[in-house]
Amino acid sequence: MGAKRAIWAAVAVASLALAACGGPKGVDGARIAAADSNPGDWVTHGRTYSEQRFSPLDKVNAGNVGQLGLAWSFDLPENRGIEATPLVADGVMYTTSSWSIVRAFDAKTGKLLWEHDPQVPKSTGVKACCDSVNRGVALWGGKVFYGTLDGRLEALDARTGKLAWSKVTVDQSKPYTITGAPRVVKGKVLIGNGGAELGVRGYLSAYDAETGDMAWRFYTVPGEKEADGAASDKAMKDIARKTWTGEWWKVGGGGTVWDSMAYDPDLDLLYIGVGNGSPWNRDIRSPGGGDNLFLSSIVALRPETGEYVWHYQTTPGESWDYTATQHIVLADLTIDGKPRKVLMQAPKNGFFYVLDRTDGKFISAEKYVDAVNWATGIDKTTGRPIEAPGARYEKTLHLSNPGPLGAHNWHPMAFSPKTGLVYIPAQEIPFPYMQPGGDKANFKYRPQGWNVGIDFLVAGLPDDEAQLKAIRASLKGKLVAWDPVTQTARWTVNYDGPWNGGVLATAGNLVFQGSATGEFAAYDAGNGKKLWGFDTQTGVVAPAMTYEIDGEQYVALMAGYGGGFAVSAGAGVDPRSDGPRRLLVFKLGAKNQLPARPVSTKAPLPLPATPGTPQQIAQGTAVFSANCGVCHGASGVSNFSIPDLRYSPAITDAAIFKSIVIDGDRKDQGMVSFASLVSVDEAESVRQYLIDLSRRAQAKQKAAAAK
Ligand code: CA
Repeated sequence: MGAKRAIWAAVAVASLALAACGGPKGVDGARIAAADSNPGDWVTHGRTYSEQRFSPLDKVNAGNVGQLGLAWSFDLPENRGIEATPLVADGVMYTTSSWSIVRAFDAKTGKLLWEHDPQVPKSTGVKACCDSVNRGVALWGGKVFYGTLDGRLEALDARTGKLAWSKVTVDQSKPYTITGAPRVVKGKVLIGNGGAELGVRGYLSAYDAETGDMAWRFYTVPGEKEADGAASDKAMKDIARKTWTGEWWKVGGGGTVWDSMAYDPDLDLLYIGVGNGSPWNRDIRSPGGGDNLFLSSIVALRPETGEYVWHYQTTPGESWDYTATQHIVLADLTIDGKPRKVLMQAPKNGFFYVLDRTDGKFISAEKYVDAVNWATGIDKTTGRPIEAPGARYEKTLHLSNPGPLGAHNWHPMAFSPKTGLVYIPAQEIPFPYMQPGGDKANFKYRPQGWNVGIDFLVAGLPDDEAQLKAIRASLKGKLVAWDPVTQTARWTVNYDGPWNGGVLATAGNLVFQGSATGEFAAYDAGNGKKLWGFDTQTGVVAPAMTYEIDGEQYVALMAGYGGGFAVSAGAGVDPRSDGPRRLLVFKLGAKNQLPARPVSTKAPLPLPATPGTPQQIAQGTAVFSANCGVCHGASGVSNFSIPDLRYSPAITDAAIFKSIVIDGDRKDQGMVSFASLVSVDEAESVRQYLIDLSRRAQAKQKAAAAK
């Protein structure tokens, strides 16, 4: 009796404390594990440890979603990609913007409570393969955790936004970045990193949430040797090392854990998604072949120690940037009449995997987009892909689908236990893979540069409008409602192009997704019928989330285009994606309006009368595609806030251009010196190439205006 009263007293005190502090004081493992009994909050990245991104809230539903309107919004001053999932606990919303800036809002009114800018040096931007984005925070014990683009893991006081502790989690002399959201399991804050396009060795680290002390680190690929006391040492020695050949550590190896994690509290297994090889090209990375574990794998670890338990590799001998860092979803399904604890993933490689999450055993895998051509299927006995001849581009160019941007990228999918369907933001973006200059012997490792070991020159885009139109038409984006038991599509929504938003599913029989062209839509979860749409005036890549306060359900979305496709695909990007960056929150019956959609114009640029020589322009084309196009856009067509160099006054003056490219005069704005990668003459050739592009672009613009 006495013991019972003590328990109830403790519960009462705990709930009083919760009500009084107004912060996420009560967020811990038990609260995350019990998220379904408190569906008004959204306390971890994927809402639950299973990362289903399914909300049991149903006040907004297929019957009334037509009345959904804008409750409040906040325009972000940052002008790069927006990828975060906001978290909501006890009435407060916590979210991040580009350059790793964190903000807290009153989730009901939209009032900004605090803002924390970690002052990431803008020069870090060139280390980021895919824009200076951030995908959100984690909550635990009154603190807000997030990663910074320059590799720090920081803890903030949830009530004030003041820094509690900060740890540098990477060697900052190397091209590591953090864009992913941390997760917290058993008091350990888990954070990975990115950088495998440039050349790093990937790992996941665990830090004590209270003190910030590092608890363990699990490397995903072997280094030159073990014995650095890492949690991964034994798995490297016993399993991974024998699947590598050559001297991969000199070029990094790759395997960065830059996004996905999930946790099963019953099995006490933490699942992490591992990235691509560094360089991509296995012929260069591991010239004697080999599977190169744990690249492109899902690895199961013990969260308290980082001890290895099992792995499953989706793409053995990865050679295409086919990461397995895509969203991991845990669910319980009935397969062949038996209940199975499964793990599901739609990695970049185009196959949807259902694995047994207790032991990592393969259950099934099928193509979730038809265009997949690098492999014909997955062998049901071995779980290995059946590769198509020539797909490894050993001798000749291979036009592969998917390309490095994947048939599905980081944009989270959602699983509804009500419909039994997984909603995948899928895409088709083909890509020509070729050895550098046609021969792997041409590869030269470049510290601080991109080191993918393939030829970007062949991936340039034409400026002929008809050819561009044909290329754009080959780029597809779709929302695929996938039945993971039968491994078939139940229904599909087709978009105008690829790289659309992440997905949210709800018990209101709804699926929410924003698009590259700025429409935020709600679909019937059962049949894909569009039930509601809202013009956000800007491209959307982030997923929506939902919460409830005082009996009202809200749906929140961060809008603003960005990420790998947005910065690199040049004229392949739909111009309608360009627009403001903002946080939008909706509820039934609200009627707030956004200001009219802004129109962007490009002012004419006076160019020198004498063009560069054909040799200069050819050299400039090659140097640009190897060094500049990944940010300034394929063939010089850049999007959004990254300057479109065809319209930049800097190209009209050789001295100014040199001061920027060689001397690093605009380092503070993110454009560091490329002197270690590009000679003065090459820089001048790039300038002549850009003048040539500018002349052609302006002629086109003039002709279009005259029509
Ligand atoms: Ca990659």
